[in-house]
Amino acid sequence: MVKPKVGFYSLTGCQGEYLTILGMEDSLLDLLSLVEVVEFKLASSVELPVSVDVAFVEGSVSTKKDLEYLEEIRRKSGTLVALGNCAVWGGIQASTTGTDWKDLMRSVYGTDENLYGFLGEHKGLSEVVQVDYELQGCPIEGREFTELLVDLVRGVRPVLPDYPVCVECKLREIPCLIVERGLPCLGPITVAGCDARCPSYDTACIGCRGPLRDEANVSGELETLLKRGYDRKTLIDLMSMFGARYGEVAKLVAGR
Ligand code: SF4
Ligand code: SF4
Repeated sequence: MVKPKVGFYSLTGCQGEYLTILGMEDSLLDLLSLVEVVEFKLASSVELPVSVDVAFVEGSVSTKKDLEYLEEIRRKSGTLVALGNCAVWGGIQASTTGTDWKDLMRSVYGTDENLYGFLGEHKGLSEVVQVDYELQGCPIEGREFTELLVDLVRGVRPVLPDYPVCVECKLREIPCLIVERGLPCLGPITVAGCDARCPSYDTACIGCRGPLRDEANVSGELETLLKRGYDRKTLIDLMSMFGARYGEVAKLVAGR
């Protein structure tokens, strides 16, 4: 059987996705034996400028170099998968959306000069190129990556969660932290897949998996938490930590 060629590429991010994958020591070799890995910078310095059947890309589009690299990856890939919150929503760095890039340069590097070819904002991949699948998380879940890779190798369309973290709370019979404790939990607007990890430890979800695309009811969440005494700015800051580029959150950020 001809193995699909796979590449793992990085833009602006912390490589958390790839650390997660490389950390799956019990299954990694079996999993990677299903494919031919042609590039994986965190694991090997080998760089093969070839086309791939599947490209996995982590990190946000933040610099001119990111943009050009991503466009080249798109041209050379059959299927393109965005891995992690940076690649899907621009990441934590996108929480600076709406701030003048010169202010950012001044506060971080003490200069007005545009270092690193910064584009002025941090974008998810789908704002720039066509993306076939998005695996959310900060970082991704190893289990979800395994299922997605196996599906792609088998030619099966991957099924990704299209419901919020709250559903996982209900399935695990975890008492709701908003209802029971009045905590500012972002589970209602955050895509599931982590098995409600934080609520299961009695901790409010901060939305690290990112908004439930096209369906997150941000105004409903805001209203619910405002009624519980939280101030608007705190809530907008919280929602924009991992979701600043989601339409409704972006509008709140712009009007802040
Ligand atoms: S604790 Fe959070 S994630 Fe769980 S049901 Fe309540 S709001 Fe949803
Ligand atoms: S509960 Fe929320 S913050 Fe915690 S891992 Fe899941 S998505 Fe991330």
